[in-house]
This record gives sequence, C-alpha cells and structure tokens, in this order.
Amino acid sequence: MTRPSVVIVGGGIAGLAAAFELSGGASPRDDAPRIELIESDATLGGPLTTVAWRGRHLDLGPDGFLARRPEALALLRDLGLENELEYVDASGASLYLRGALRTLPEDSVMGIPRSSTSMRDMGGLSTSAVFAVRRDERLPRRQRVGDDASIGEIVRRAWGDEVAYRIVEPMIGGIQAGRIDQLSARSVFPPLLEAARRGGSLLRALASLSPSSTSTTPSFASLERGLGSLPVRLADVLRERGVEVRTGHSVETVRETPGEYPLAVETADTVTPAHAVILATPAPTSARLVSSLTDGATGLSTIDSASAAMISLLYTADDLTLPPQGTGVLIPLDTPFSGDTHLVTALTFLDRKWPHLRRDGEVLIRAHVGRIDDHRGEQMSDDALLERVVAEVATVLGARGTPLDSFVQRWPRGLPQYYVGHAERVTHARSALEPFGILLAGSPYDGVGIPASIGSGRRAAQQVLTRLGHGE
Ligand SMILES: Cc1cc2nc3c(=O)[nH]c(=O)nc-3n(C[C@H](O)[C@H](O)[C@H](O)COP(=O)(O)OP(=O)(O)OC[C@H]3O[C@@H](n4cnc5c(N)ncnc54)[C@H](O)[C@@H]3O)c2cc1C
Repeated sequence: MTRPSVVIVGGGIAGLAAAFELSGGASPRDDAPRIELIESDATLGGPLTTVAWRGRHLDLGPDGFLARRPEALALLRDLGLENELEYVDASGASLYLRGALRTLPEDSVMGIPRSSTSMRDMGGLSTSAVFAVRRDERLPRRQRVGDDASIGEIVRRAWGDEVAYRIVEPMIGGIQAGRIDQLSARSVFPPLLEAARRGGSLLRALASLSPSSTSTTPSFASLERGLGSLPVRLADVLRERGVEVRTGHSVETVRETPGEYPLAVETADTVTPAHAVILATPAPTSARLVSSLTDGATGLSTIDSASAAMISLLYTADDLTLPPQGTGVLIPLDTPFSGDTHLVTALTFLDRKWPHLRRDGEVLIRAHVGRIDDHRGEQMSDDALLERVVAEVATVLGARGTPLDSFVQRWPRGLPQYYVGHAERVTHARSALEPFGILLAGSPYDGVGIPASIGSGRRAAQQVLTRLGHGE
C-alpha cells in the first residue's frame, strides 16, 4: 500500500507543532505518514523570532507565553527544552490614566478590578465611572445576550463607556490589537459572555467565574535563548525524523486529483500529492488556497488581522527609572499626546520580566504600536516612528535623552481579529473542508497566542492521523 502523504502549509508554530505531532510527538513513530511542510518565508516560526542584539537573545515578536495553559509547556517537555524555561520574574501592570500611572489591582479578572472599591482605589477614573460599577454590584442592569455579543456591548451596558474604554479595552483589546466593540465575547473572553448570560451583577458573576488563582506557578514563561529557539529546535527534530521541511516556497493552490491521492498541493514549481492537508496559514490565504474546491470556506477571507510594530529601546539606568513594580504599562486609545493621541498602546519592561535580558546599568523596554483601526505607525518611516515613540516614553515614564540603542520590528497583519460570529464562521469553514481531508490550524481559529496555536496544530494532526487510520 502507498505510504500516506500529508502536507502542512505554513511553518509558523502551529504548522510546526502539527508536523511534530504527525511524526509521533514525544516518541517518533515508525509508521508515520510522509510529511512535507511548506513555508513561504525564508525562516520558520513566524513572529517567534530571536536575534542576537546588544549581548542578549532579543525576541522580536512574542516575549513570553501563558504558562497556566498546558500546550506550550507540554511541547517544550516533549522536545527536552524544559531546562531552558524561564519564568517571568515580576507581576502586575499599570494603566496610564489622566497623566499618571495607576497600578492595576493584582487580583483582577483580566485587568478588571473585582470590586468598585478596588476600582476607586486605583484612581484615575471619574466618580461617575466608579458609581456605574457600584450600581452594577447593587442594582444591576438586565442584559439580554444571545449566543454571542461584542465585549464592548456587554461591558458598556454594565459599567459604562469610561470603564469599558479606559480599563477593559487596553487590557483585552490590547492583547489582540483589536477594538472591544468588534471583538467576540464568546471567542475572546468566554467567562464574560457566561457572566452576562447569568444575569445579575456582571462584576460579581465574572469574579465568581474566574476565581482568584491560588497557583504559585508564575503565569508567563519564556526561554533563556529566546522564543525563537523553539521553532529552530522543532525544525531540527522534524528533519531528523525525515520530515521534508521546505522554506521560501509559497503554496498557490490545493486542488482535487483523480486516483490514489485525492489532493495536490501546488507551488510555482512543484506539485505534492497528498491524502490530507493541514492549512496553518493566515485565514484569507487559506480561503484562497481552497477556492477551487468549495465556496464553503470563503467566510475565512473576512477574518481581518491587525498590524503591529514592536520597538525595543535600551536606555542607561541613569536615563530611565522604571516604576517600582509591574511588568509594564497599558495606554488607553485616545489618550491625548502633544495635540494628537498616543501611538503607543503598551510598554513592556522586558528586562524586569526576563532575567536573561538583564545587564547592569541598562534598562530594556519595548513599545507596542498598532491597532486594527490605527494605521498611523504603518505610515511612518522607522526613524519617524522611533522619534515619536521615544517622545511618548519620555512623557509616560519620564525617560531622559535618547536611548543607547533601538530595534524597530514590524509585524504586518500578524494579529487575527475574532469578531462577533467568529466561532460560526470557523465551524462552517471546517465542516466544508473536512470531507476533502483539509484541516485548519493556527491562531486565526482556536485562540490567539502561542499555547493556543500549538494546541490547534497538534489537534489537527491527531485528526489527520485518525482519518488515516493511525489514531490511538
Ligand atoms: C507582534 C506580536 C506579538 C505577539 N505576542 C504574543 C505573546 O506575547 N504571547 C503569545 O502567546 N502570543 C503572542 N503573539 C501571538 C502568537 O505569536 C501567534 O498566535 C502565533 O505565533 C501564531 O502562530 P501560527 O502558526 O498560527 O501563525 P503564523 O506564525 O502567522 O504562521 C503562518 C505561516 O504561514 C506562512 N504562509 C502564509 N502564506 C503561505 C503560503 N501561501 N504558502 C506557504 N506558507 C505560507 C507564513 O509565512 C507564516 O509563517 C504575538 C503575535 C504578534 C504578531
């Protein structure tokens, strides 16, 4: 019998995790299908990219991952990388409100303080904003919520616009560089939808659905040689196992073929026959690749993505003193800055979070720029963007002078947006593609973030193995 053939399109962390699982996961399997992974970029891992910079391993995309989810930790263990794990060495965050840093209560639910009292104590909010939250605690408004609603709709109704846009949006919207009035509560923050559907006080329901963590494990982790070392290691293991890993080749289409192999995956100069295909590409790309097979996946082309820029800034300790606590600062949209509004949405205190980045006499921070509806940074040259960000850092953190060094990294369309109705769109596309033996994996579908993307890739691989009769 012909050896089954599986093609994975996209060599980000989801595609790599899928290939790893197909080849046996923690224990390589002798009966693994033929596996080919095709990536259009010259490098693998997507935004998981680390460079040697100023004597450090500097991550240019994500600098850490949620360690309270199991998927990334499990993969690191399977790869024997657990001794390179580094846990975050600080906690907490501040909000920049009314020209000052306000410490977010540590015991918050995704940044949302658990009571009107802790919200008031934080400072920076008007009396009427605190009153709106107190009213929700004592005399809550009824919410009529169906299967999905935007995060903005739910929180604005319960707590008013000020709390929604000054606290919830920088926190939840910031992770995806999206707007709370578009983002789906069901897909992005399910406990919020559940709390709204329970009725009664939204704050109390949310607090009861998200009990305070008693875990002593820090919530975030990274790798001593940077997160970019994960795709490098995965690619080495895959090649050792005989997986064909091709970079610098863009897949142009996936089509049906008569005969033994039902599918063919085409690049400009190759055709690979396949029994199953895992598409771990951006959603609109996946929609285009399968357009000759079905129109059931066209909804994927409407999954938009936000572009972001990450600007790493190295200061002398004399020029920048960080606030005594916290891993960074969130800046609400529309916060005034010099006749305009802030471009920077968040500042991360990189060398406070990660011991491997610390050096005496220096302070390393990162500025995040870009939202789904804010393209100002994309229109600026790197020099202009840097100048503007340095001026904003001077205002928010009181930094003096120019940084010792800087690194501007742009991530065009890197952050998929989960709008209201996202879950249905994805389910619909999946059920249209599965009969062909085509699976979808990655951050456009099952959650943005490294652990979710790894889990998505490994699950798609397990489904393929079951389909090929290799299941457990
Ligand atoms: C700026 C930024 C900061 C982030 N910060 C964090 C963080 O701190 N913590 C965290 O957990 N997550 C973070 N994330 C999210 C996390 O990086 C992603 O969820 C994850 O990397 C997505 O992996 P993926 O494999 O699904 O997608 P990708 O990494 O985007 O992989 C898709 C791959 O498909 C390839 N491709 C596209 N078209 C084709 C084609 N036609 N043929 C072949 N290949 C193709 C692309 O080149 C790409 O390599 C961040 C993301 C960004 C952009």
